[in-house]
Amino acid sequence: MTTIPVILAIGGHDPTGGAGLQADIETIHGMRCRAISLVTCLTRQDSSNVISIHPQPTDAFTRQWQTLLNDIQPDAIKIGLIGSHGLVPAIRQCLQTARVPVVLDPVLAAGGGTPLANNELVTGINEQLLPETSLLTPNRAEARRLGNCKSMDQAARQLITAGAANVLITGADEATGEQVSNRLYLNGTPSRNWLWPRLPHSYHGSGCTLASACACGLARGLTVLQAVEEAQQFTWDSLNSATRPGQGQYLPTRCKT
Ligand code: PLP
Repeated sequence: MTTIPVILAIGGHDPTGGAGLQADIETIHGMRCRAISLVTCLTRQDSSNVISIHPQPTDAFTRQWQTLLNDIQPDAIKIGLIGSHGLVPAIRQCLQTARVPVVLDPVLAAGGGTPLANNELVTGINEQLLPETSLLTPNRAEARRLGNCKSMDQAARQLITAGAANVLITGADEATGEQVSNRLYLNGTPSRNWLWPRLPHSYHGSGCTLASACACGLARGLTVLQAVEEAQQFTWDSLNSATRPGQGQYLPTRCKT
């Protein structure tokens, strides 16, 4: 019997299923791994924008990660929307207990524009979570805010200095031409760039898909470069077959029948 890698997804619930934990679980399933999950917050949203966030109490979250990790050892962890700075120390403890590769997608704002992180949460991510992170996957706006500088190269250097082992800055949020440029900054080696044909719509949950797919690759023992390469292809395919069940953004199709 072969074992199936287990990915722990830590994030928020998005009722549309486009982003958040449901996106993570679909991706992990689509990548032939098994998902376990911890809820940081519920959200009220539709496929156009996030309306409000309802964080999980810290003690309930702490008791749940302890109960879960006492039972099941994950092979990698993916973190998405945290929603409240009060959960940061609990998440850090969880990461330090599990001691497996960590992919952190720093969700700071919704695609529709609603802010999803205040300055205290940004500080908490920088100071407490980056030192535990194997791969950080900000978009350009998130890299600028977390790294506190305008240049992407400088922001990546700053984030690696703050403790992130490797940084993948995605470019879809600010792409204007025919292509989307994603750049991977591997700690200590030259960065690597990919250009992807830009797809025609606006998509909900692309970042969750990419980061979860990276976590699956790392769980299977791929290098960061291999995991990022494979995850981008999985994400592009999911977006290329997205559908629009509501009236807002397109939702990726991550599990093919
Ligand atoms: N809601 C939740 C729970 C999320 O995790 C995210 C992103 O990760 C969003 C909303 C925003 O998704 P998007 O940036 O694709 O609009």
